[in-house]
Amino acid sequence: MKTLHEKAVALVKTYLRTETELLSVLQEIDLCKGYREQGFKSLFDYVRSLGLSENVAYNFITISRKSVQVPALKERIQDQEISLSNAKVIVSILTPENQDKWLQAAAQLPKRELEKVVAKEFPEKSVKETTRYVAEERVELKLGISEALLKKLKRIQDLESKKAAASLEQTLEAMADLYLQKNDPLEKAKRSKPLAPARVNKNPRVISAYLNHAVQKRDQAQCTHQQEGKRCGERRWLDIHHIKPLSKGGQTTLENLALLCKGHHQLLHHR
Ligand SMILES: [Zn+2]
Ligand SMILES: [Zn+2]
Repeated sequence: MKTLHEKAVALVKTYLRTETELLSVLQEIDLCKGYREQGFKSLFDYVRSLGLSENVAYNFITISRKSVQVPALKERIQDQEISLSNAKVIVSILTPENQDKWLQAAAQLPKRELEKVVAKEFPEKSVKETTRYVAEERVELKLGISEALLKKLKRIQDLESKKAAASLEQTLEAMADLYLQKNDPLEKAKRSKPLAPARVNKNPRVISAYLNHAVQKRDQAQCTHQQEGKRCGERRWLDIHHIKPLSKGGQTTLENLALLCKGHHQLLHHR
């Protein structure tokens, strides 16, 4: 075991030294645009071609470029006072003016703590919500959430990990299924029995759950308003509208009801 441990210690030393050396070399290649000689339009494409993952390549490049502006960043990394992963946390907020404070924080705090302090002082730098296709049927989802929500998610993940550990994706899927089952009119309609055609509500002002399901199903939970042959695409804020108004003898039947979005519903009643 002792020799294995010695090996590990030595390898980590080499690994960290290699990281900082690579950082320096990439910085030089960037400054003289040496990647062009190799036939690449950008440093990023060049670094990717070396076999580094997109993420790692991006980190090297942003840190190396920031070091041109704040040379102390590279020095602290080379002296192994700041790890590359901590450097990545401060790279977007580091300036020559605030460098003393943030280089010190990056040298002292564990990564999680550092992330918290940065997020607190620069909430505008916190994550923008994005979705991006990474393969035909895979999407990368990025969003910032509160610590309280993270705790809830972890709790659900624990509950969802019955036989095997559930991933965050599996946890979200279980939550989504449960939500839709409970709240999506289309899902509810699928489970309800088909409506007898001439069924009339006893109280015409009340639309029974039964009837509601039938309307949702027929109109596919989407506004039915048509304009120049095109149907409105709204699937939010939907009302059930009486085509022939109750005041003019219209009935509360499937045939006399239609889904309309709030906007088109108002339009129809105010013209
Ligand atoms: Zn109406
Ligand atoms: Zn509409």
